[in-house]
This record gives sequence, C-alpha cells and structure tokens, in this order.
Amino acid sequence: MDYGDYEGVMGLEVHAHLLTNSKIFCGCSTAFGAEPNSHTCPTCMGLPGALPVINKKVVDFAIKLGLALHCGISRKSIFARKNYYYPDLPKGYQISQYEEPICTNGYLTIYTNDAKKRVRVNRVHMEEDAGKLVHENTIETSSYSMVDYNRSSTPLLEIVSEPDIATPEEAVVYLKVLRDILLYLEICDGNMEEGSFRCDANVSIRKKGAQELGTRTEMKNLNSFKHVEKSLDYEIKRQIELIKKGGKVVQETRLFNADEGVTYSMRGKEEAHDYRYFPEPDLLPLIVSDEWIDEVRKTLPELPMEKMERFTDKYNLPRYDVEILSSDKDLADYFEETIKLFPEPKTVSNWIMTELLREFKEGDVSPKDSPISPACLAELLSLVKEGTISNKIAKDVFPEVYKTGVSPKKIVQEKGLIQISDESAIIATIDEIIARSPKELADFRAGKEKLLGFFVGQVMKETKGQANPKLLNELLLKRLKGE
Ligand SMILES: [Zn+2]
Repeated sequence: MDYGDYEGVMGLEVHAHLLTNSKIFCGCSTAFGAEPNSHTCPTCMGLPGALPVINKKVVDFAIKLGLALHCGISRKSIFARKNYYYPDLPKGYQISQYEEPICTNGYLTIYTNDAKKRVRVNRVHMEEDAGKLVHENTIETSSYSMVDYNRSSTPLLEIVSEPDIATPEEAVVYLKVLRDILLYLEICDGNMEEGSFRCDANVSIRKKGAQELGTRTEMKNLNSFKHVEKSLDYEIKRQIELIKKGGKVVQETRLFNADEGVTYSMRGKEEAHDYRYFPEPDLLPLIVSDEWIDEVRKTLPELPMEKMERFTDKYNLPRYDVEILSSDKDLADYFEETIKLFPEPKTVSNWIMTELLREFKEGDVSPKDSPISPACLAELLSLVKEGTISNKIAKDVFPEVYKTGVSPKKIVQEKGLIQISDESAIIATIDEIIARSPKELADFRAGKEKLLGFFVGQVMKETKGQANPKLLNELLLKRLKGE
C-alpha cells in the first residue's frame, strides 16, 4: 500500500500462549475448554499467602524462542508486578517481566515483494495471562458478568518488535513468519480464534524520509490476519487525514470494529509508570546457566527460513513453491518424504501445491493427517513417468486415491486406464477420425494449423483420454500432413 507523502511506522506486540501442560506459577492444568473455574488453586486465584513457583518448561520455551529470534538470553532476569485492577485479575497485579526480560535484541527476517528485511525484536518476556470475563451475548447488552479463572496464570510469551514495520502487508508477513516459528518450535498452537496468538499494534505515521517518530496509537486484540491488515490500513489513513487537516494524533488505545471496518477510541493510553512496576518479592531472580541454554539449543529444529533457503539451494525450486512448502513443517516433511521415492522435486511440488493442497483445503485436513501417503503419491507419479498412464488420467485418479487410500496401480488396472502406447492402435483411431472430418482436414492442410487441437481432442475422446499424448501428437502430425 502506498500512502503518498506519508509512511506508516508500526511495532507489534504479540502474546503467544504456551503449550505447557500446567500453568506458569502453579500445577493447574492449562487445557482449553474445561468447566469454568475447575482448573484453579489458591495460587492462580490469588488467595492470600499462596506463593508462585516458576514452571521450568516456560523458561525452556522462552529460551527456545529467544534463540530462534537471534536474541541475547539474559543469564539473570527478574519477574515484576504489573499493578492494575480488573475483575479477571484476582491478585490485583499480573506477574510479568519488565526491566530485565529473559530475551533481548533479536530480529526476524521477512520477505516482502522479493526484498529481504529484518524486523528487530526488542524483547521476549514471560508473563501470566488473566482470567476471562464471560457475558451473555455482548458486554454492552449483558446485565451481568461472570468470571472464569481457568485461564488465570496460563503462561504467555510477549514478543515486542521495534517500530520497523512500514505497511500493513509487512505486519501480516511478520506475524505469519513469527507464527510459523512458534509452530515449528512446537511451543504454541498459533490459534488466533481461541486467542493463543494475539496481536496488539502501535501505529504512527511520518513524512516519508523523516527520522522522528509521530505520536502513536495502540490497536488492541487483532484476532485475524485480515483484521490486522484492514485495521492498520484504516488507522494509518485516519492519522494522515487528521494531520492533513491540521489536527494532532492523540496517544490512546483504539479498538477495531471488524463489522464496520473502522477503529474507535477505547481509552487514553497508559504509560509504564501507571502500572507501578516493581520486582516480584515472591520470586527470586531467574538465573539461567550456559549449560541450560546449550541444552535448549540442542532441541532447536530447522526453522522455516533455514528450510526455505535449503529447499531453494538443494531442490532448485522457485521462491513461490518454497514459501508454500516450508510454511508448514508437516507439509515440508511430506514433500521431502515424497522426493526420496520420486526424485523430481518440481513435479512433486506442483502436485502438492495443486492437487494435494486442494483436497486438504476442501476437507480441512492438515498435512500430518493426509489420507494419501508420500509413498502413494510417488507411486502415482511413477506411473506417469513410466508412461503407464497420462498426466490427465493421473489427475482424474487422484481424488479416488485420496479418498480410498487404495494404491494408484490397483485403481488404474481395475479401471482399465492404462495408457495406449501401441502405435498401430493409435494410428487406427487417428485414421478413423480423419475419415470422419474431411472439412477439418482440408482446412488444416490449407494452413489452419490450430485445428491440430481439434484432432487431438477427438482422438482423446475416442480413447477416453488414454492415448499416450506425446506419441499421439507425433503420429497425428504425420498423418495430417499426409506423410
Ligand atoms: Zn493454580
């Protein structure tokens, strides 16, 4: 998007729910969707005298993400109390990290319009989530509020970027890349609808080329990629209009209304000092040893960006293919399993991106649950390569193989779909068609070469698509030219 003389300046704050079995400071379960208030104890209910104990797994996950984002890992970090009152926060404060977070100064690489860009990551810190208020219909129409503390004290990582993002599209790419990394690391399920991956954005504008930052507004709880893009675009345009009219941007928190496609002022923006942060007296500083970091480092998988680069170099695939294949770890594994058995990367990639992904999309199936195994797909492609069936037949058979899981060889045999590669049989059909089409033949010979397609179509129809296309073309041309 282009904003004329202006440009957007955005920083994103992402909250990622961690896939630990228990909460961050107590042993309660983090399972989603349980009976309200059934996963609670004195600690996560904030009862007097209950003390927090840090869950080691949360620290493991924070280090893991920090390493993946090229951050420095603090050998000593501290937890802090962020004080505010809300009914879903029974303690009256949230345990977070403020002055000394666990990970600092990293970056994430994104590609936009084929340009590589680094978005700096200011920090990653650990914190607990609040509970949840439940209303009848909407908060505006409900006559009461109910509170569910199951989510209270579930572990979060907050990932704060520097204001390096210039357009709503870049913001979406950044979020997708970050989400892919979390999924690859298997530390967050990335589910935006259930709120496991939430985004707030700081938005300001400035004249193109200016260094100084404008006054920013904060957009809260953008819960889909589409909303992120729409709301940021709206907000940038709103600020530009305001400035052009001689107005001033006010620092505030705004909410995006997805139905109307506009943002509304929610409240004046709080500053850090409003929260009266101070070190959490019930938790000791967290000390992380080099050995601990090394242990976590050993568990790091190949990350999406590394995989993309390897796929590009090793398999010589275009950027478009590589981006799609590496966007999902299971899909990338599927691709690599298949090419072990059928070593033609581009052919396999084409089939995965068209036929297979179409089926996945239609049935809402994820790659790891694919009903057609890599071996099965490789077998189908081998049948085409050997000339047993045409590519067209392979595409026709594919949905059945997908649905039934029956081997492609078997289906092809049972249905009598084996390609006709017998010259005399093809010639016989060609001659029959030519005899039936004197006018088309004369036109062809008079120079209307486009009619080749007509003859190919007729022969294919007659042979139910089973004539070997390469052979058919050769033989047909000879016959049409009277050779
Ligand atoms: Zn608890």
